Amino acid sequence: MTFTSPDIPDHEGFAAPVLPTGESAPSAAAFTKTFVGYQAACSCGWTDRRRFPATPEGAKETEYRWWSRHAAPLIAAAPPGELVARSNLLCERITGLAAERPLAALALLSQVESWQRTLLDQAVAQARENGASWAQIGEAMGISKQSAHERFRAQVSS
Ligand SMILES: [Zn+2]
Repeated sequence: MTFTSPDIPDHEGFAAPVLPTGESAPSAAAFTKTFVGYQAACSCGWTDRRRFPATPEGAKETEYRWWSRHAAPLIAAAPPGELVARSNLLCERITGLAAERPLAALALLSQVESWQRTLLDQAVAQARENGASWAQIGEAMGISKQSAHERFRAQVSS
């Protein structure tokens, strides 16, 4: 049995049997009769530290742990798929426009830039206010913690 969410398709959670040596079996497929408990684990390599009894109830607990400790924070940090699709479409359309009518593309791009910069500053300020670290902000933007801090510290007070 695996745990999945359509919002994070690359992650598949499972109850990993814990071996008597204290190691967790690498996957649900490596199931062994000599296991002594269950740990929540994910196909990405994440493993929960907490161990549950080797019972059906213990296995059920790992599903809750996978959701609360691993899946929920990832889902919270992932942009809605529908908006990602719209953003990709906008990029494609402007690429086409730039080839056919470059001046029209320039006018549109400078309009996008004007609200994009404002929204970026607002989102960073809000993330800091909600307690996000510079490392988390950098990770969300695909840049380093240092780059995020250098780029936004002037706009954000803390
Ligand atoms: Zn995962």
